[in-house]
Amino acid sequence: MTARIIDGKTISADLRGKVTDAVHRLRRDRGIVPGLAVVLVGSNLVSKVYVRNKSKAVAEAGLRSFDQNLPEDTSESELIDLIARLNADANVNGILVQLPLPLQINAQNIIATIDPDKDVDGFHPLNAGRLASGLPGLVPCTPLGCVRLAKTVHASLAGLEAVVIGRSNIVGKPVAQLLLAENATVTIAHSKTRDLPALCSRADLLVAAMGRPEMVRGTWIKPGATVIDVGINRVSGAQGKPRIFGDVAFAEAKEVAGAITPVPGGVGPMTIACLLLNTLAAACLQNGLPAPSI
Ligand code: NDP
Repeated sequence: MTARIIDGKTISADLRGKVTDAVHRLRRDRGIVPGLAVVLVGSNLVSKVYVRNKSKAVAEAGLRSFDQNLPEDTSESELIDLIARLNADANVNGILVQLPLPLQINAQNIIATIDPDKDVDGFHPLNAGRLASGLPGLVPCTPLGCVRLAKTVHASLAGLEAVVIGRSNIVGKPVAQLLLAENATVTIAHSKTRDLPALCSRADLLVAAMGRPEMVRGTWIKPGATVIDVGINRVSGAQGKPRIFGDVAFAEAKEVAGAITPVPGGVGPMTIACLLLNTLAAACLQNGLPAPSI
């Protein structure tokens, strides 16, 4: 069997188009233009590329951009002051602080400073608690993208046996919470899990988010399963040129799975599309409007 490829580029382009239309209607009917502040501290090359891609997508969707680039030696209190100003600015509906931060800054302190209603990354403890409690709130973008991709394969995730590899606060745990909310039967695996291959081979839906290049082999996958590969691993190839690998051995897995996301071109583009969706949702909520059902 050769798996259907879940084309994140096409699916995210569709979502971005719908967000763009909704932003246009919001501006036309209510005079509201959602604004996003992406805060980059320092000059991490990978972060710079992410931020550039986000800014381009923000402009294309008709959102207003309030990007902030701070020097590498910015102190924690300087960053907290900036976030307080962005929290107080009514034109800024969403705030995203690009991680990782330089060592002198405690990321948890920064995340906790962001107004939860502007926390478009969904990392604030209040939003994590809302998600765990099944309450409405802003949900992390990558997990949201994973679930939307899975739902292009399965009309309903109810009753599916789902295995999520990885328990980070930004990917593994929120993916598991979202799948639980969709009534999947969810198991979370991590580095101490015993016999990971046997566990994975039970999964109708497998989400790999551990940051280990091609660790999930074809033999681990249940025939016909849906595989969502979150991993982005830069590995030096010939002449030191970096190549990107997922956490799943794609060539093997696609011969066994029913549907699979490629890397690149799977989860990655969905993350940005969901960031735009979250910014739109935040702007609506801050203006007393219902979150758009897109
Ligand atoms: P973290 O390093 O924060 O977490 C990795 C998780 O994987 C941990 O829970 C860890 O377990 C688990 N793990 C590590 N090694 C193994 C192993 N051998 N067997 C089982 N579990 C293991 O990573 P993130 O969650 O931040 O990111 C995961 C991957 O997703 C990375 O490749 C990252 O680049 C990618 N990513 C992609 C995004 C996208 O837009 N597509 C966005 C965000 C991340 P333990 O807790 O026991 O240490």
